[in-house]
Amino acid sequence: MLKFLALSVFIFMNLAIAANPWPRTNSRIQKDPNIEKTVKEILDSMSLEDKVAQMIQAEIKHIKPSELKQFPLGSVLNGGGSFPYDNKNAKVSDWVKLADSYYKASVSAGAGVPLIWGTDAVHGHNNVIGATIFPHNIGLGAANNSKLIEKITAATAKEVLATGLDWIFAPTVAVVRNDRWGRTYEGYSEDPEIVKKYAAAGVRGLQGMDLNEDHLIATAKHFIGDGGTENGVDQGNNTASEEDLIRLHAQGYVTAINEGAQTVMASFNSWKGKKLHGHKYLLTDVLKKQMGFDGFVIGDWNGHGQVDGCTNESCPHAINAGVDMIMVPEDWKMLFYNTVGQVKSGEIPMERINDAVTRILRVKLRYGLMDLGKPSSRKHAGYSKLVGAKEHREIARQAVRESLVLLKNKNQILPLDRNKKILVTGSGANNIGKQSGGWSVTWQGTGTTNADFPGATSIFEAIKSVAPNSVLSDNLNTKADLAIFVFGEDPYAEGQGDLENLYYHARYKSDLETLKKLKANGIPVVSLFITGRPLWVNPELNQSDAFVVTWLPGTEALGITDVLFKKNSGDINYDFKGKLSFSWPSHANQTEINRFDKSYRALFPYGYGLSYTMIDTLSDELPEIPFPDGNGPGSKEELEVFAGRPIAPFEVFAGAENQKLPAGIGQTNDGSLKAIAIDKDVQEDARQISVNREASYLFKTSSALNLSHYFDGGISFELRKDTHDLALNLIINQTKLDLGSKLNEMQQGEWTKIYVPFACLEGRGLDIRALQTAFGLIATRGTYSLANIKLYKKSQGQGYCE
Ligand code: BGC
Ligand code: BGC
Repeated sequence: MLKFLALSVFIFMNLAIAANPWPRTNSRIQKDPNIEKTVKEILDSMSLEDKVAQMIQAEIKHIKPSELKQFPLGSVLNGGGSFPYDNKNAKVSDWVKLADSYYKASVSAGAGVPLIWGTDAVHGHNNVIGATIFPHNIGLGAANNSKLIEKITAATAKEVLATGLDWIFAPTVAVVRNDRWGRTYEGYSEDPEIVKKYAAAGVRGLQGMDLNEDHLIATAKHFIGDGGTENGVDQGNNTASEEDLIRLHAQGYVTAINEGAQTVMASFNSWKGKKLHGHKYLLTDVLKKQMGFDGFVIGDWNGHGQVDGCTNESCPHAINAGVDMIMVPEDWKMLFYNTVGQVKSGEIPMERINDAVTRILRVKLRYGLMDLGKPSSRKHAGYSKLVGAKEHREIARQAVRESLVLLKNKNQILPLDRNKKILVTGSGANNIGKQSGGWSVTWQGTGTTNADFPGATSIFEAIKSVAPNSVLSDNLNTKADLAIFVFGEDPYAEGQGDLENLYYHARYKSDLETLKKLKANGIPVVSLFITGRPLWVNPELNQSDAFVVTWLPGTEALGITDVLFKKNSGDINYDFKGKLSFSWPSHANQTEINRFDKSYRALFPYGYGLSYTMIDTLSDELPEIPFPDGNGPGSKEELEVFAGRPIAPFEVFAGAENQKLPAGIGQTNDGSLKAIAIDKDVQEDARQISVNREASYLFKTSSALNLSHYFDGGISFELRKDTHDLALNLIINQTKLDLGSKLNEMQQGEWTKIYVPFACLEGRGLDIRALQTAFGLIATRGTYSLANIKLYKKSQGQGYCE
């Protein structure tokens, strides 16, 4: 009998363990009875309105300090590419001044709890002109050096403290399973091994041991499974088993929380179809109860608005699920009123509000906010020399050095002699924005010039400084001993970087031509590849004598030349240390290839990377068929023209003179048209176009596409009529279709999906065997918005035909 009892207890315990498999954390920052007591006192002094306000975070463009008097919000943020007073060139003193204004207003209102300001200092204080920009996380993963990560985040914290802010939305601890994901570069690795070490090191650098005045509040993000969505779709659906969620995606949170991370950001993605912002099981039962996280959960940018039954202005579900502070950049006021109402009606229990506010106050007190005083009075505030400080740039330079991965070094052409005459060429040769990637001055990292990065060094400048006989030129016939060709991905952030496949050449055609020309000129070519992820570049590898993956190195390109060039004495200066923390694909559809896969056929496996002591045997004849499985883009049922951005090979040309508009945004020189990015379903996924006289907005390719296999299909797009006087024609190649009767049916301000069969257009003379303008609109007056333009192979129904 006893035996039986013991056995059943044993079985029961095992079942209990199986049912509660999430690791328990043990934070470096333990509950302090004094703090808990003060938290309780403050909480008791707060009205319902004070409490709800504490749970809201607005964006600095959308809230004036004076508004805090009436709405004493718990926090503000500046989004990517958002600066004090809307001034890109805001000085450190401007940041501090604005921080002071928010602070002062917050302490003089409600219960007098100071607000905290959060920012995306994700690779340095990247929204501030002149800041040190460190390599993006993918490069840091290749460096595999936790001490270095701690130094980087400690330096980043100093630059942020100089501007008077309190809180950083980093580190990203995503484990990236599919390289199609536009945020691949924000992840350290495809495997939890490095991620879990780095999550701890990153938090340690930001928060220190005890969040003293040299440190600030960190965020582990985005909880949970952001790197494991189906097809790598940003904000998509993760279908991993719970076991895999724990084994892969939770690992960075365990170590970050153990290290004391005080906030966790909820993710945009879903798990098994359910959005994380509304996921009570994962946010409350798992993260807070089972894992024991006692800080607060911050929502992501309108992430609550994506929960079923919610809008940006109202979302009791997210709060009930466990989001403690809602990031609601613009619509904070309506959210405030709605939330107060929902507590009064009982839809949100008062205990939930008290729990959320307790957590927020706890973090603020642990940070010492009540004693820190106004931002300008704090230890590092206003020290503009900290921003872009020499010591910080040295750390970044070391990080660049250690992150480079050498994939090819035929005949040991590297390291280079400093006396050689070198032709430096390519789109990345002298382009600091490109070498920095997304989240650099602007959100997407686009639209900058080298002048936006004072104190930075471009790759060419670095080369020139060590090899004075170098020339920067697009003339490939320039006489030289060798060429350094710097090329790769243009900047992007978040979903705008999502890809269909990993075929580099399909997006950047001319690079291979350049490589072939250089080769034909008989000089050796060293390729420096700027990229946010592994890409299929076999043809480019074949044409290169040496091939270095630089990732997105940031502002300190001297880290590249430290390794590339020998010392004057002829000895190796620095050897390559970087090893792939992501598997490199052997064909363009190998998007989901990860260490420990069952059948693993990487071109370069996880951990790969040559050094100068290794003899390279890579063939010059790697297979050049991108899609050996036959599933290339041509076999697709649909072809995207615009999905948050123009999809290559399509580019936008606009106005009366068909002027190119990068990313489909901008104003034409002739003044006829202006296009801005707006949010439809996610951030900046649509364009709003205003014209004041006849002006077109066209999606064109440089060479015509033969779409004869799309004969039975058509084109679909989403349109919103923003002014009632709108007059629009659809144009495909030269063929026009008046949208007038459709516009008459449409409600102003509402999105409508329109499908036009090719048959309709063929009847009017369109030849889809030579499609060059795949889609265009011509307006004579008014404002409209446009999203999701697609060509379909198969019929999607009768559609519109005037
Ligand atoms: C991103 C977060 C970021 C936040 C604030 C979101 O779009 O997903 O990583 O912290 O914006 O800018
Ligand atoms: C980014 C912000 C950015 C915004 C643009 C967000 O997802 O995180 O920083 O400014 O989108 O709409």
